[in-house]
Amino acid sequence: MVECRPMLVMPDMSRALGSDLRRLLREEQIKDDLPTRTAYAVDASIYRIEPRAVALVESEDDIHRLLRYAVERGIPLTARAAGTNLTGSAIGSGVILDVSRLHRILEVNREEQWARVQPGIVLAELNKHLARQGLMFGPDPSSGDMCKLGGMLANNSAGPHTLRYGAVKDNVENLRVCLSSGAWLNARAYAVGDPAAAAVLSDHAAINETWSLVRGHADLLEQKRPRVSKNSCGYNLFGLAEGMSQGRIDLPKLFIGSEGTLGVFSEATIRLVDRPRATLTALIHFKRLEDVGEAVPQLLELSPSALEVMDANTLDLIGRSRHGIPADSAATLLAELDDDDGSVDLHERAERMAAVCRRYPLASAVVTAYDPEQREQLWKARKALYPTLYRFDPRKKPINFVDDVVVPAVRISELIRYLEEFFGSQRVPVAIFGHIGNGNAHIVPLLDVNDERDYDTMVRGYHEIHRTVLDRFGGSICGEHGDGRVRAEYVPAMFGPELYDLFVKVKRSFDPSGVLNPGVKISDRPFTEHIDYTRLSKSCATCAKCNAVCPVYDVFRSEDMSSRGWFEIVTDKNYSYLNSKRVVEACLNCKSCRTACPAGVDVSQLILDRRAEHPNALAGLIFRFHAQTKRFAAFLKILARLQPVWDRPVMRRLIDVMSRPLLKYLSPSARLPVQIALPKLASRQLRDRHAHLVPSASQRSTVAYFHGCAANYFDDGVGDAVIAVLRKHGVVPDLPPQRCSGTPIETYGHRELAKEGARENLRSFKAYDTVVTGCASCTLMLRDYPKLFAGEPEEAAAETLARRVRHISEFVAQSSIRPPMAPAASVPRTVTYHSSCHLRAAGVTKEPRAILNSLPGVRFTEMPDADRCAGGAGTYLVKDFETSQQIVERKRQAVEHSGADLVATSCPACMIQLKTGLPPAVEVKHVAQVLLDCYEAAERQDGEPAP
Ligand SMILES: Cc1cc2nc3c(=O)[nH]c(=O)nc-3n(C[C@H](O)[C@H](O)[C@H](O)COP(=O)(O)OP(=O)(O)OC[C@H]3O[C@@H](n4cnc5c(N)ncnc54)[C@H](O)[C@@H]3O)c2cc1C
Ligand code: SF4
Ligand code: SF4
Repeated sequence: MVECRPMLVMPDMSRALGSDLRRLLREEQIKDDLPTRTAYAVDASIYRIEPRAVALVESEDDIHRLLRYAVERGIPLTARAAGTNLTGSAIGSGVILDVSRLHRILEVNREEQWARVQPGIVLAELNKHLARQGLMFGPDPSSGDMCKLGGMLANNSAGPHTLRYGAVKDNVENLRVCLSSGAWLNARAYAVGDPAAAAVLSDHAAINETWSLVRGHADLLEQKRPRVSKNSCGYNLFGLAEGMSQGRIDLPKLFIGSEGTLGVFSEATIRLVDRPRATLTALIHFKRLEDVGEAVPQLLELSPSALEVMDANTLDLIGRSRHGIPADSAATLLAELDDDDGSVDLHERAERMAAVCRRYPLASAVVTAYDPEQREQLWKARKALYPTLYRFDPRKKPINFVDDVVVPAVRISELIRYLEEFFGSQRVPVAIFGHIGNGNAHIVPLLDVNDERDYDTMVRGYHEIHRTVLDRFGGSICGEHGDGRVRAEYVPAMFGPELYDLFVKVKRSFDPSGVLNPGVKISDRPFTEHIDYTRLSKSCATCAKCNAVCPVYDVFRSEDMSSRGWFEIVTDKNYSYLNSKRVVEACLNCKSCRTACPAGVDVSQLILDRRAEHPNALAGLIFRFHAQTKRFAAFLKILARLQPVWDRPVMRRLIDVMSRPLLKYLSPSARLPVQIALPKLASRQLRDRHAHLVPSASQRSTVAYFHGCAANYFDDGVGDAVIAVLRKHGVVPDLPPQRCSGTPIETYGHRELAKEGARENLRSFKAYDTVVTGCASCTLMLRDYPKLFAGEPEEAAAETLARRVRHISEFVAQSSIRPPMAPAASVPRTVTYHSSCHLRAAGVTKEPRAILNSLPGVRFTEMPDADRCAGGAGTYLVKDFETSQQIVERKRQAVEHSGADLVATSCPACMIQLKTGLPPAVEVKHVAQVLLDCYEAAERQDGEPAP
């Protein structure tokens, strides 16, 4: 067999390589420290290879220089976008060329329906932008929240809606490709005989050679062309041959799916489609698997845009009760129908679909949804399926090694039956799901690859299943995920030696020095090489879903500054606080990763665990003083009285400069920036203003208000509003003695001090039936006390308290009293909601929105990115003001786009951050304040004085 091996002249030391690269690009764009190399050693596959260095390219020039350097020195170069591929194609031993900073949409043509985009843009971000013009990019991998265009192009990605829109290869006009020859190519379709085609052939020897190969082997290509509806295995010489028969040199077809082995893309012109006007999603639970196969051809007659299946094992593994799936469902089908222009009666189509399905025994009635939010719910389990499987067993993990086969759609039940028997006979749990309309099945057995028996099952299954797919089903071993490292070994078996030889020749023409992603697609290395046995015993699926919500990754676009990267770094055997302090201290502890993770991993907690090993000394001093509640309160009262003096611009500038030498012990970038819109400190604090609510000896109410630090010390009206709202709902709360809930204390590594305060809170709130909170972070922290005391004597008390905690919005939602409301002059007409991360993590998302939606005279508008961190995160504004301002910029744009005059939220840090980052014309208030304004307006209307 012919192997395309790189001629590698590796520098002895990665440092030498790093120095070279720093001369080529800016210093800040090159990273070769241990945390970076650890973070980039993985993608979403089963493999691990540590690179020597990472380059964060920002221009075509950067790509060109790096590629030239790699070719001259014989250093492997692996292009990488989001690193969500499942095949090991975005990791490599040399330099990783990360395109994430090339993330702009360069042009959108609404009329002609195309866009020019850079490879680092995330699919979901692109579609969010296009939605404003009623457009979208058709191919929709389930990883669309996190994967980027560069990876989609290089993998020829597809997804549930490929049934309607095709794969990526069917939706691209042009690619800008940097070739290893140093030339740039506009890879579009050229008419044969056109002078432009002649120029391309004469300018690029590799194109000329490949074109000659295709012309000389048209019969072979026709004979070997996969006869199934999807294929991403090998190079798509079939696409070139098909173009040739129509008089075109269709170059995008060659590069799409080439997995970074033929060149690096800097830009693509993609075709867009209109967003359907309305869509119906249906969930159908079949009692017998074979009926699904029979129903599919009939359902296809209704022109569905998506047709997805999950088999019985998959339903068991993801938890039937969690997703409302009947116990006797043998397979669940997810179908979608579109109405593009109002000409399709979706209800009638839904009825026809249900009629087809009712010919077979169903486990329950067909569930239909038209509303986008409900439809999203139906898709949720399917989209997060693979990482969700990580929850199943601490040892047995879903292993992608036969994950992407394609058979004729009508034979999908037969394939599933075969696979269930294959794995069933070995007692191996397996999830089988996928795009049934295309006959594309994702097969994910759960194995402990560190166990010899399971390892053997994997190797045997790899060969036996792929062979069966080829011989018995006439299928393909790869529909959409790419060959990568996992299928490269089997590409020759799929196409035979003659055609494989053509692939090798193509690879050599484009990459004679073998530096472009060696080991991927064209390689004779066994698929078991580079398996990451250590990682496959950990809890993270490396799916990168958390990166998509991590505000730090959003700013730095570098894997070492991301949630997934941090998981790798803090769980690595070579981790030490000293070598990783830079990254461990960069997390905001916003908890967005925890909310997003389908596998149940809490990266923020792992980081807090590491910080707890090195508590910050200065923060310790501050928090110990803070813990002396009376003294601290007295100190803040003095500061409050002096605020008119120190809170003037000149003084604030002075404080900004003078605070740095001290605050550097908190963090090198810490300061008290002059720009922060500091709230007014209260000289009469909440507990003084409401002294009659502070129980002297015994409790007086069944409801307590946990006001936290901010509501007590700030004179911002939030605490008063919460108490007043409670009163309107017939409750006079107690304000029992309380300490800081603990969030900021734990953030600086002082877990024991946080526990000390938490113990006091447990005692103080023990007897109350309900503990109301107004602050997002306090809500989450109190609900998290059981984790703080896991395995300790306080755990049971912590669980009791956690169950009793109600955010004020939840309290209002559950209250039987409905006080009258009226439009309030103090509440502007258009209101949007910023969903604080900690409140989301505490599970409170709907109630604040329901309140805002119910306000009379107010138009509630959902802003884009409402669920994204605003960058305040406790004291992060002080710790790293510059990064926090880069984070809030996205929020500023979202608020502007929403057109709202008021942003309602629930967290004091978010309120400070929003007041600092938003234009002064936009008001920021707590949800309770806005609600109270409307209650009081109604009372004024009725002539009743507001209390
Ligand atoms: C939970 C989950 C669900 C998934 N579902 C699907 C699915 O439904 N359908 C599907 O097709 N895939 C799916 N995938 C696989 C993967 O997400 C897709 O293939 C995705 O398109 C890869 O994009 P990426 O940005 O992560 O690329 P990466 O993983 O970074 O890279 C993929 C390949 O592209 C190359 N590459 C990246 N950028 C460039 C560039 N600028 N120039 C040249 N080469 C480049 C890399 O070298 C690599 O070979 C899923 C993955 C996960 C984790
Ligand atoms: S922590 Fe969770 S979301 Fe993040 S990569 Fe791991 S499994 Fe995926
Ligand atoms: S807590 Fe926030 S900043 Fe930290 S890793 Fe998670 S998402 Fe990123």
